[in-house]
Amino acid sequence: MTRIGRFAPSPTGPLHAGSLVAALASWLDVRAQGPDSRWLVRIEDADTERCLPGMGELILSQLAACALVPDEAPVWQTQRTHRYELALGKLKAAGLAYPCGCSRKDIDEALTRLGIGHTRHGERVYPGTCRDGLHGKAARAWRFAATTFQQASGEPPVHWHDRRLGDQQQDVAREVGDFVLKRADGPWAYQLAVVVDDAEQGVTDVVRGEDLADNTARQILLQRALGLPTPRYLHTPLVLGPDGDKLSKQNGATPLQTGTAGEALAALDAAAQRLGLRAISGHSAKEALAQWVAQWRDLYNSRP
Ligand code: GLU
Repeated sequence: MTRIGRFAPSPTGPLHAGSLVAALASWLDVRAQGPDSRWLVRIEDADTERCLPGMGELILSQLAACALVPDEAPVWQTQRTHRYELALGKLKAAGLAYPCGCSRKDIDEALTRLGIGHTRHGERVYPGTCRDGLHGKAARAWRFAATTFQQASGEPPVHWHDRRLGDQQQDVAREVGDFVLKRADGPWAYQLAVVVDDAEQGVTDVVRGEDLADNTARQILLQRALGLPTPRYLHTPLVLGPDGDKLSKQNGATPLQTGTAGEALAALDAAAQRLGLRAISGHSAKEALAQWVAQWRDLYNSRP
């Protein structure tokens, strides 16, 4: 079986030390699985409000400087919205998507009334206010009927396995609620776009940062509702900023310096160390990558 992995950056800023860890890990994971395997890059610009012009191109050139070159032309989500529309149509037809007219304030009020807390990441649990109709409000979003689907599947909570973190589970209905697929003001939600794209691109192995692990149960429910296969998952260690939070533009992540071969190699070396790989003796990014492939195989590829 041809293994297919991908790196799926959102073009909200240049590549930084944290995002390079995910890029390197997904590349190594695919390369470690044999010569037929393929590594894809998808620019996740579906959420157009957060994306900055020119960043997708910049990320691709930073990756290329690190010798991380995709095996196919990169895909841009904004060119694929008709596919998300088809998937939403399928969910609507199955009674698994419904319009919601709630503002954040409406949701907060309903949560207080029902005595329900927020999720552990401070996100609001959606209390299902519009599940039985809009109650005269205008639609602001389309939501996935996760609660109905999860109950019907008879398997709350959702169980899944992570190749680094081990067995995981999440009761999506209770911890997240019916989540948004599309906002009425336009942008497609990450959850729907990522599920549609991973399946369409034949992705067999999702390797990405640990901060995204919490989305996996939602994505598995959507895959099941759409009749799509579930890939294997591996979530990589995060690079933390000076405040102890995940490194991001907000807490001081500086764009990676990849202008010279030495800078690219140093950036890769730091990312490899975060993944538990040993320093190498290579003089170029290509040589270093080849040595890390063998190390990766020993560390991760024997894991189911
Ligand atoms: N676009 C997401 C991000 O940059 C990653 C999506 C994924 O790998 O599933 O955070």
